[in-house]
Amino acid sequence: MSGTPPTAVVIGAGVIGLSAARALLATGYRVEVIEQGPVPNAHGSSVDSGRLIRHTYGTQHGYAALVDAAYAAWERLWADLGETHYTQTGTLMLSRPGASWAQDSAATLDRLGKRYRVLDRGEAARRFPLLNLEGVERAYWVETGGVLAAEPIIDALARHLRVHGGAVTPHTAVTDIDAERGHVRLEDGSHRAADLILVAAGPWAGRLWPELDDVLTPSRQLVCYADIPDDLYTAWRRMPMVLDIGEADSRTQGSVYAVPPVGDAPLKLGDHAFSLTGDPDVDRSPSAAELQRLFEMTRRQLAEPARYRLLSGRTCFYTVAPDSQFLHRCQGRAHVLAGFSGHGFKFGPLIGERFAELASGRLDETTFQTWLAARQ
Ligand SMILES: Cc1cc2nc3c(=O)[nH]c(=O)nc-3n(C[C@H](O)[C@H](O)[C@H](O)COP(=O)(O)OP(=O)(O)OC[C@H]3O[C@@H](n4cnc5c(N)ncnc54)[C@H](O)[C@@H]3O)c2cc1C
Repeated sequence: MSGTPPTAVVIGAGVIGLSAARALLATGYRVEVIEQGPVPNAHGSSVDSGRLIRHTYGTQHGYAALVDAAYAAWERLWADLGETHYTQTGTLMLSRPGASWAQDSAATLDRLGKRYRVLDRGEAARRFPLLNLEGVERAYWVETGGVLAAEPIIDALARHLRVHGGAVTPHTAVTDIDAERGHVRLEDGSHRAADLILVAAGPWAGRLWPELDDVLTPSRQLVCYADIPDDLYTAWRRMPMVLDIGEADSRTQGSVYAVPPVGDAPLKLGDHAFSLTGDPDVDRSPSAAELQRLFEMTRRQLAEPARYRLLSGRTCFYTVAPDSQFLHRCQGRAHVLAGFSGHGFKFGPLIGERFAELASGRLDETTFQTWLAARQ
């Protein structure tokens, strides 16, 4: 590009907005990221102790097939940042009668040529004595997969942008956008003008892009953190992530997961079943009763559950789209990226890079949308 650089305003400093901003900056855009809260914003979907990256994806072959490219994009990010925020743990999937997610994931791994080991219950119990495997038929062990340190990544991305000439403006809500003129109105009544606007507003996206309001469902999710007994801590540091998932969209099948402690983070236990309810601006503190219920449900997968202590918990929002497929829409100068359906973090840098290709004309819109929805 020559002459005056094109300008971009990105709304939202989550993993998608910041990753897109980094890639736009590298393409020659002058970039400002505008965030309604602090950066990192603990109410955004991208801020927590960790987010998982894994090849195990049930029947969602398309997204499973993108995970190698996602890993490569993280490597490029670590090189840019000069710091790495990833710990490989490996992945353990538990398979129960009537739940096909683990088996489907194994079939997808076969298609991708990824190696895994099937363990019968006895072998799994010997190898993973920290788990309660009652009712488990078999387990699948995959060497790949690990934990991305989410909050440090958001922090590092924002620092990287600022160091390289981008702007990150916290505590400033965008109230509306004029897609045709390329105007963004801020809460104090002022506005910004840009050649390109990107709405990367997570569960708030429908407010700035009303056409998506009926398509996206914010889904309030709970996670809790548990204190590990001292004598088990070293063993937990060597544990894989544990995925005990029923049907991804079901609220009737249990869908619990455990994230082992990495770095300073405690053991995290969560429920992956979509609640499909909630408003990201209200009800952000889980009640003690809610947390206790989640803790009781999730610690059932642990051997000696009574020895673990509930430390704390939090709410976080998924933004659920039909078939959990990521969405892109474009109108005038404005774009929106949304619908990351509880599995978007791992793809943040990769999506940012592909979006910058679209913005700079190296990729057409149909190809980008097909790729983003992982339609094969
Ligand atoms: C409990 C939980 C566990 C998850 N686990 C995983 C996992 O293991 N692996 C994985 O890959 N993904 C996981 N995800 C999903 C992943 O975290 C999200 O898909 C991803 O973080 C979405 O990023 P985002 O940038 O789109 O949204 P966000 O991170 O929510 O960022 C949007 C930002 O926009 C800001 N904003 C909104 N409206 C405005 C406005 N009007 N003006 C200015 N700023 C605004 C918000 O404050 C927010 O900071 C999980 C999500 C949750 C909740």
